[in-house]
Amino acid sequence: MEYKKTVAPSLAWDRDFIQNNNIAGPRYTSYPTAIQFHEEYGIKDYEMAVKRSNQKKRPLSLYFHIPFCDTICYYCACNKIVTADKKRVRHYLDQLIREIEIQGSLFKENRPVVQLHWGGGTPTFFSHSEMTELMYHTGRNFNLLDSEQAEYSIEIDPRGADIDTLSLIHGLGFNRISLGIQDFDEKVQKAVNRVQPLPLVEKVVHASRDLGFQSINMDLIYGLPYQTPQSYRETIETVIELQPDRISLFNYAHLPHRFKTQRQIKDETLPTADEKLEILCDSANTLMRVGYVYIGMDHFAKREDSLAIAQQQGQLQRNFQGYSTAREADLIGMGVSAISHIDNTYSQNYKSANRYEDALTEGRLPIERGYTLCADDLLRQEVISQLTCHNQIDIPNMEKHHQINFTSYFEAELCELDAYQKQGLLQLSPTVITLTELGRLIVRRLCLVFDIYNSGSQNQKNTYSRII
Ligand code: SF4
Repeated sequence: MEYKKTVAPSLAWDRDFIQNNNIAGPRYTSYPTAIQFHEEYGIKDYEMAVKRSNQKKRPLSLYFHIPFCDTICYYCACNKIVTADKKRVRHYLDQLIREIEIQGSLFKENRPVVQLHWGGGTPTFFSHSEMTELMYHTGRNFNLLDSEQAEYSIEIDPRGADIDTLSLIHGLGFNRISLGIQDFDEKVQKAVNRVQPLPLVEKVVHASRDLGFQSINMDLIYGLPYQTPQSYRETIETVIELQPDRISLFNYAHLPHRFKTQRQIKDETLPTADEKLEILCDSANTLMRVGYVYIGMDHFAKREDSLAIAQQQGQLQRNFQGYSTAREADLIGMGVSAISHIDNTYSQNYKSANRYEDALTEGRLPIERGYTLCADDLLRQEVISQLTCHNQIDIPNMEKHHQINFTSYFEAELCELDAYQKQGLLQLSPTVITLTELGRLIVRRLCLVFDIYNSGSQNQKNTYSRII
């Protein structure tokens, strides 16, 4: 089936509508979500999945988690280690290299690495020689490609990226950078302990363009202390002047009971839910007015960016880093807490750095838990992926691929969708289910219909963030 061009520049973010549909739900960077991972899953399951994956000879995507940071941003909910202890960092790198060697020995050498990402933490916390060493060992154990054939990206904290560092990163083969911006307002930056003046960011952006990086992403956060609709409008205008290729606009979820560092942020400094909604709708509408397309959940891209093109061509995917163009690639996550997605399995490394390092010191893979998807999971995974990436479900294709009769298999779900159709959120036909523009704004709610693990319990509601 030809994918209908669902990228709608005219999509208007409707404030009242979102307010009435502000539900909590997973972001579906995986299906089933990580809550279903369990500890009965182990190294043997992983090795069997790798064998199956080697037979299928899919390309590879590599993710490396580098958890170290110089200072703490108060809004942070990442798995990070704030340290100045260089020995500690060295030990981690040694174990990460061991993991690369073990993983590299499991996968057939000729499988091309079409995507690679360093995330964190702050990947540039590593010294220049440590970064070089990490890429050297990756290249020795995997089939890295040159920059015309692959997307190799790295998260950059503008405060830790001078020209020499950017130049080194480019030389190591990275062609994309993702900058943590959040907000340009100094008052907000001080309140979250992350002060990075605009001239510093401009310098990084201009240097990256001069060096030849193909794409710049900016991460923004709304809902931080002292933000107002007016102040955030100025941040968005500044972002537009800097012309990033992709923009992620995340909602800050204030959960001080879960994340200790967020206790530094006082409740009374936060914008109200109403202000947050105004910031979200204003920002999204402004970005689309100046030519960005709304890809889906939190993400915008220039029309000519590979994400927008992949969406138009029906090639877009979602993985743990958000949206991706690496279709059909098996993902190997390395480093503390990293998640792999190999064949029909998910595997997660230990979240504790000590346990992660101990496992590797003993020469074994540091897998803590995981999940093997059954046929029903795989079907629902594809349905949810179609909705989040392409805003539609191609029914004949799904029937052919999974050997089912869609209408009888999803009888209950289709009944539920019929109610949403009456509300104007989607259109049902015998061959295709298509989200309307309104439906796209609350796609998470529509995915929940197909999520068999969605119990709607209070516990589950507390686990996931709301749209605002
Ligand atoms: S937001 Fe990024 S840089 Fe800040 S503490 Fe968290 S991981 Fe470190």
